[in-house]
Amino acid sequence: MKLSGLHILLTYQCTYECEHCFVWGSPRQSGTLTLEQVEEILRQAKEAGVDWIYFEGGEPFLYYAVLVKGVQTASEMGFQVGIVSNAYWATSVPDAAEWLQPFAGRVADLAVSSDLYHCEKYFGENPQNALAAAKWMNIPTGVISVAQPDEDAAPTLGQITDQAAVMYRGRAAVALTPRAARHPWDQFAACPHENLREPGRVHLDPLGNLHVCQGLVIGNLFEKPLKEICKRFDADAHPICGPLLEGGPAALVSEYNLPHASDYADACHLCYEARTTLRARFPEVLGPDQMYGMEQVKI
Ligand code: SF4
Repeated sequence: MKLSGLHILLTYQCTYECEHCFVWGSPRQSGTLTLEQVEEILRQAKEAGVDWIYFEGGEPFLYYAVLVKGVQTASEMGFQVGIVSNAYWATSVPDAAEWLQPFAGRVADLAVSSDLYHCEKYFGENPQNALAAAKWMNIPTGVISVAQPDEDAAPTLGQITDQAAVMYRGRAAVALTPRAARHPWDQFAACPHENLREPGRVHLDPLGNLHVCQGLVIGNLFEKPLKEICKRFDADAHPICGPLLEGGPAALVSEYNLPHASDYADACHLCYEARTTLRARFPEVLGPDQMYGMEQVKI
């Protein structure tokens, strides 16, 4: 497996608790990387031949000093660097410029979330302020926008850009499925959003877990070097990726003879429910608790 992008979840904590969030981001979540860990991750990413590093979460600006230093180090090491944020900090354009100043010339993509989950209107004030300040500073930008369950939007492959349809995994599988249309379970015969055999980019959480999809783990970088994990990854032999590659979430249900409902909101909904049922059997690859909404501690 050749990796070109590593998306670092700097923290599971977030200022918001959005209904569509894949990673159950919340002010009550636990798990945040230290600067020392970020530096170790970047060292390993370089060794594994990664080109792009993204800092995201949760909300990475909550740990601003670590974010600033992490971006600076990644940029000096020759990575292309991106940040994904909800722009909660962009309360005015001049203030946003102060927040962004350390990233000028270092960040090649600032992606801000703006939709009805994060803001009162699709293009919220804070995201607008962040984008205007970034423009002043020549920081390239993008907008991540997720549609409501009853709106038409294109499905997404890989990283979300523009307005994308909801994917019913993580908190969305619980909070938004009551508002979604349903389809028979056995029609979900492929994973529509991720290339599980050659993912190209993976997410790394604050505990060191590498996720090919949120909650679907292929190794732990604090236990085995990233380069080694990539070299040894065999998607077909993975107990969850294997069935998913063979016949999507429906094959996961059939392979492990899982109880199931007659219909689901989408492939991710069935996949997430099936994986939740399988967690006790495959704790190494279906975790951590944070990704399944189990870890909501006070901070
Ligand atoms: S079908 Fe499963 S593996 Fe594929 S994107 Fe959805 S939740 Fe992830």
